[in-house]
Amino acid sequence: MEYAEVFHESLKIVSFCPMCRLRYDPLKAEVIGQSDNARLIYIRCQRCSISMMALIALSALGINSAVLVTDANSADIRRLQKREKVTFNDVIEVYQYIQSKRFTQYILHKVHER
Ligand SMILES: [Zn+2]
Repeated sequence: MEYAEVFHESLKIVSFCPMCRLRYDPLKAEVIGQSDNARLIYIRCQRCSISMMALIALSALGINSAVLVTDANSADIRRLQKREKVTFNDVIEVYQYIQSKRFTQYILHKVHER
């Protein structure tokens, strides 16, 4: 399969919103990363405002895809791509934060904001 075909197939994969099933305009899909045989695509649903990232990769077995619904925007994703890798200490820090009272208060605050 040629690279152009991979791109065409990748647009089919991201042609519907995974939440409300709205059909996307493939021209609004944003390629935020790519290599010779893979592409990372970002698109935001205009109806329900859900954003998703889709990783589409071509392998010997065909096209593989992974779709992730996210609250990040494309600028966030680009910024995160440039950051350093997550370390064990980062994971421990997040775990400790999630276990803390501060995190519970933050979540409660966010729930009451809605
Ligand atoms: Zn939607």
